[in-house]
Amino acid sequence: MNINAHTVIIGGGASGMCAAILLKRSLRNENIVILEALDRVGKKLIVTGNGRCNITNAVIEPSRYHGNAPEFCHNALLKYGREFTEDFFNSIGVPLIEGDNGKLFPYSLQASSVVDALRLEIAALGINVLTDTSAQNLLIDKNGYKIICANNELTCENVIVATGGLAGGNKLGSFGTGYKLLRELGFSLVEAYPSLVQLKTDLAPIKALNGIKQNATVTLCINGKRVRSETGELLFTKYGISGPPVLQISRQSYLKAEKIVKINFMPELNFNEVLNFVKERKKLLVGRTAETFFTGVFPKMLGLTILKICGINISESVSEFTDKQCRALAEQIYSFTLAVTGNNGMENAQVTSGGISTALFNDGTMESKRYKRLYATGEVLDIDGDCGGFNLQWAWSSAAAAAFDIVGKSK
Ligand SMILES: Cc1cc2nc3c(=O)[nH]c(=O)nc-3n(C[C@H](O)[C@H](O)[C@H](O)COP(=O)(O)OP(=O)(O)OC[C@H]3O[C@@H](n4cnc5c(N)ncnc54)[C@H](O)[C@@H]3O)c2cc1C
Repeated sequence: MNINAHTVIIGGGASGMCAAILLKRSLRNENIVILEALDRVGKKLIVTGNGRCNITNAVIEPSRYHGNAPEFCHNALLKYGREFTEDFFNSIGVPLIEGDNGKLFPYSLQASSVVDALRLEIAALGINVLTDTSAQNLLIDKNGYKIICANNELTCENVIVATGGLAGGNKLGSFGTGYKLLRELGFSLVEAYPSLVQLKTDLAPIKALNGIKQNATVTLCINGKRVRSETGELLFTKYGISGPPVLQISRQSYLKAEKIVKINFMPELNFNEVLNFVKERKKLLVGRTAETFFTGVFPKMLGLTILKICGINISESVSEFTDKQCRALAEQIYSFTLAVTGNNGMENAQVTSGGISTALFNDGTMESKRYKRLYATGEVLDIDGDCGGFNLQWAWSSAAAAAFDIVGKSK
């Protein structure tokens, strides 16, 4: 089938749906088409935020974004930031509510309801959605662009590539075909790696800890240099470590270098305070054996693991702990060290670091500097954010920048 459209949006994810709605609201008589490779739009959105969809964050700071040229995202985030997002979601009947660390969620706390509201708005506006339709080629045509799919050929004046990255794998629509479409037009790809991903570590020291959670500060060190520290609920797993602080520090875990994590199980204390804590506890727990030294402080298996690493037998009397043993315990509490052996890969990552280089795009409009009326938005570009609603905010902000530019040029 041959279809003629004003704008074709390749990818019916967060960014593509947002762009389509903004476009159609202003250009009611134009044919706005979303091409979606999967059988439904918004499949990734449904699993975001553990099914609650962390739509944005109360504080959108530039420092939360990364890439070869992270400053590329600042303009769009400044112009279409948290307030824009809140207004947009209110306008489709989804009020937001704030959770911990400034995270904003739909009031329903259901990601599926966010997708429903977007789909209802898309239907009400009469946006043309072609599902099970993957764009295979993007060609320059005499009046704009031609998009070749298995059963359709579309021509249009404007095209937005909103195909996302590789994180989450094929089932969530992360095929990487957007990279191919843009590379064929001469855009370059910054190598893509998983980010916001669990870390694989040396397992010997933590084999008894699978499933245990503990508040901690986790610090990634690469070649002996501290790269990033985050505090929150750490989870020990059968492959290594997970939990919010681990995802947050995982961005450079792909680097081929010596990587370790240092874990501080008492993040509110400095080393001397931890040492004092251990010494005071030794005085307090006269008559106890080492086995119960950490009872009331840490989960049992974590306490036993720390004792084991320090070479302290569980039947040893607490009163007989030597100064050296007290120091060893304090060191393990303050700086429990694990070698990082890798990460859990793209399939389990929440975002792609890398993507299509932003160098050939305009940071205010997302339009290509090389081809007029060709836009790229969201995760397909070499921009990735921290955990906490920052990646979806980038999807909405970049979508708005592109959509309003097209609207401006179409009137
Ligand atoms: C498990 C998980 C949880 C997450 N949780 C959060 C969170 O709570 N908060 C947050 O800010 N971020 C979160 N993210 C990240 C966030 O979901 C993404 O950054 C965001 O969805 C990117 O939006 P996008 O529109 O660029 O791409 P996507 O949402 O990935 O959409 C791209 C769409 O394009 C389609 N497509 C791909 N290629 C083609 C093609 N050739 N033709 C047609 N269609 C195509 C895909 O099927 C897909 O539907 C999470 C990610 C994952 C994997």
